[in-house]
Amino acid sequence: MNRQIVHVDLDAFFASVECLLNPSLVGKPLLVGGAPGGRGVVSAASYEARARGVRSAMPMAQALRLCPEAVRVPPRHGTYGHYSRAVMALLAEYTPVVEQVSIDEAFLDLSGTEGLHGPAEDVARAIQGRVQAEHGLPCSLGVATNKLVAKIACSQGKPRGLVVVPPGGEAAFLAPLSIESLWGVGEATGKRLRALGIDTVGDLASWTEASLRSLFGEAGTQLFRAAHGIDESPVSPDRERRSYSHERTFASDESDVAHVRRTILAMSDDLAAQLRRDGTVAQTVRLKLRSRDFTTYTRQVRLEHPTDVADEICSAATALLEENWDRRSLRLVGVGVTDLLGHGGIQLSMFDEGVQRQRRLSQALDGIRARYGHEAITRASLAGNHSGGEDDLEDEP
Ligand SMILES: [Mg+2]
Repeated sequence: MNRQIVHVDLDAFFASVECLLNPSLVGKPLLVGGAPGGRGVVSAASYEARARGVRSAMPMAQALRLCPEAVRVPPRHGTYGHYSRAVMALLAEYTPVVEQVSIDEAFLDLSGTEGLHGPAEDVARAIQGRVQAEHGLPCSLGVATNKLVAKIACSQGKPRGLVVVPPGGEAAFLAPLSIESLWGVGEATGKRLRALGIDTVGDLASWTEASLRSLFGEAGTQLFRAAHGIDESPVSPDRERRSYSHERTFASDESDVAHVRRTILAMSDDLAAQLRRDGTVAQTVRLKLRSRDFTTYTRQVRLEHPTDVADEICSAATALLEENWDRRSLRLVGVGVTDLLGHGGIQLSMFDEGVQRQRRLSQALDGIRARYGHEAITRASLAGNHSGGEDDLEDEP
């Protein structure tokens, strides 16, 4: 029996909310993100801005060079969260099996709901119409027998798309797509595949699993399965853990940039080790700052691809620090990761080569720490760490 999986993704979500709240922005190139002077990055770009080559996570200064007439607005995370919850509640009307993957993205498993709501394609169309009519937001949907193909189908239809891949049509649907459209194939892996004459998913599908394994190791099997549109990972509404975080309260209020950065690096190291231990990867990094007057704020950034590598978590958190810290003394700094994904199926643990190397090194360090204790290896850059206080590991409901 085939599964009926729907992937829903709001189109240019933050930018769409801004347009909804200020209709004079509709149709203009719009950038949501921090100011270019403060090392701001693009959190979201409207399709008019994307047409000029702007991408999310790009430095704001670069985005404004590509598209000087763009309107920039600072992000309003609380507002986006409000719309996100409303849309997720709407999705839950169709099935309890909803897996929210990020603030604006979810998988639904509609298998067995046909008697109640009709075919998955009709449900997808109804959802698209209702999200627009009731919440004023455009979204795209992909319908397929698994998460991998549903997600790619959704991205192919953007914006305002609805793409249905019939059962048995998975490999044929993927075949003409560029190799980079497979989730997890980054720039370096893409280059390596293209050097082998593999430009499309169809080209990849003509390779045997054995030959891909001999070239890419374990990732070769995942490439092989992805190329054939195979993915058995379940839609998991109740992932046990939704986030990991560490916080450090400074013994005395801290204003030394170097020390705050070292503290962030140490916490990133620990978070990455926990992710690897639990076999999961995170797509969003959060930074929490509390100044001496107890003003507390949290900022987050969505990474281009999910990670369990300390350096990637650290550089995202450090960028958030640069962007958001007004240099007032800090009582507390925290780093967290969320949008957790398993390694299987759509979450191809097949990253670019540099990242692969870092992961292997990190895994080797995990092994040494497991045998000889955490203090056995300390990063050279942490050797001068003099912070006091306790680390808290908190679990979000
Ligand atoms: Mg989106």
